[in-house]
Amino acid sequence: METHEYDLVVVGGGSGSQVATAAADRGLEAAVVERGPLGGACITRGCVPSKALIHRADVAETVRHAERAGLEASLDLDTVAYGEITDAIHEFVYEKADRQAQSLEDADRISLYRGEGKFVDDRVLEVEPVDATEADRVRRIEGERVVVAVGSRPMTPPIDGLEEVASLTSDDALYLDERPDELVVVGGGYIGAELGYFFGALGTEVSIVGRSDRLVPREDDDVSEQITAALESSCDLYTGHEAAGVEGTDDGVVVTAQAGDGETVDLTADELLVATGRVPSTDALNLEATGIETDDAGYVETDATLETTVDGVWALGDVVGDQPYKHAADYEARVVAANALDLADGERTVDYEAMPHAIFTSPQAASAGATEGELREQGRSYESATVPFDVSPLGTIRDADGLVKVLASPGGEILGCHVVGPEASALIQEVVVAMDRGTGTVADVAETVHVHPALSESLEAAFEELADPEVSTAPDWRDVGE
Ligand SMILES: Cc1cc2nc3c(=O)[nH]c(=O)nc-3n(C[C@H](O)[C@H](O)[C@H](O)COP(=O)(O)OP(=O)(O)OC[C@H]3O[C@@H](n4cnc5c(N)ncnc54)[C@H](O)[C@@H]3O)c2cc1C
Repeated sequence: METHEYDLVVVGGGSGSQVATAAADRGLEAAVVERGPLGGACITRGCVPSKALIHRADVAETVRHAERAGLEASLDLDTVAYGEITDAIHEFVYEKADRQAQSLEDADRISLYRGEGKFVDDRVLEVEPVDATEADRVRRIEGERVVVAVGSRPMTPPIDGLEEVASLTSDDALYLDERPDELVVVGGGYIGAELGYFFGALGTEVSIVGRSDRLVPREDDDVSEQITAALESSCDLYTGHEAAGVEGTDDGVVVTAQAGDGETVDLTADELLVATGRVPSTDALNLEATGIETDDAGYVETDATLETTVDGVWALGDVVGDQPYKHAADYEARVVAANALDLADGERTVDYEAMPHAIFTSPQAASAGATEGELREQGRSYESATVPFDVSPLGTIRDADGLVKVLASPGGEILGCHVVGPEASALIQEVVVAMDRGTGTVADVAETVHVHPALSESLEAAFEELADPEVSTAPDWRDVGE
């Protein structure tokens, strides 16, 4: 079989394709291998469609709570043309994926292989076309440099009876034709919480079964406590429960949830969503033919430059497993591009200290840096300040639930920040800038002038509590009035 040679081969057309574009822009020949829609999980099965749905939930919540602002508004969820909403989102995201495919196809010096890539040697792959009519046209490609960016997919947990019933993963729950009347979500992580919030806000009776005592248990305890309490108002929560078994019924499923003390409860629903985490898509890659090592869970092992155990082969994104967020994958793509294409002076290494993430429930949550639990585990000295979100005038006006929690070293270095409240996903950004590009101290935020009256004043107030009062010049609106 003829081998097509490239300067760079990227396996996985999500975030990894940015490295191919960077290579082509510098006059190198690149290939991208993608077995599904371009853009990866984010565009068609993750961030974008889930947030498009959640936007509808937020609108419904706003209407539902209009009376808090003295306004009368009614919400008729029975007449919602649910299928039209999901069709519109489907069309929007697939158009985006098609445009991305087109731009790669049109690019000079990039070859797009629509198929599944499998390694046959350290830097050699065979690509099996996804189009069945071309099934016999397996092509072999070789890269002087190779990037593994194959992402992850929903995991199937070993629950009794699960394989015998129809269940949903996040891949299909985003595009249902009809809104379920009753939904059981197994999994209390951020995907379970976000989708539970969405369906609950649109009128589905949602039960969430989660192993830990709180939803989103990886967050700081104060955050997970608030998100759990918030979701309790729209969903039935079975935290501290394990899904022990699933059985099909004439019109849906029964999920048996078992508490730590052995007590069980049967939850009936017309749909079951399994959101118990994700696994790396390395199993189809035939890595046995290479020296690329993975850990026991299948995540690719890399050093801090994101190079794998094979010289000239890098990995990025969910398949590395450290930071399973789209913005982390994009950041890693920049690091890999710099290292694989020699764009920087010396090698670039990853630094996740200021890596933020957000949870799009209502209220939202967003974090950067360590949780209090992690600092305690590491035995680090720290100071903390927590203020309620409505410490700011706009927080009060908007009747905002939530908090801002700052963790700092005794010397004032920001170690972590956790925000629960409206627009938390945007508000965390100033902390990330301070941690990543500023001096990384609480003074960066406390001494910066904040717009008044804005939600960001809640952050200012929390950072002020830890700032050196001798040095701090930030005005305290609580003293000066509105
Ligand atoms: C429901 C949901 C909501 C999410 N929401 C957010 C959010 O709000 N914010 C956020 O930051 N992150 C979110 N994420 C996570 C985010 O989608 C991922 O972190 C991100 O997409 C990872 O990018 P990636 O390039 O590593 O992998 P992917 O985007 O998964 O890209 C990998 C690509 O490789 C392809 N591929 C796999 N194996 C092969 C093979 N053998 N040959 C050829 N191609 C292959 C796949 O088809 C895929 O297109 C969400 C995820 C889900 C599931």
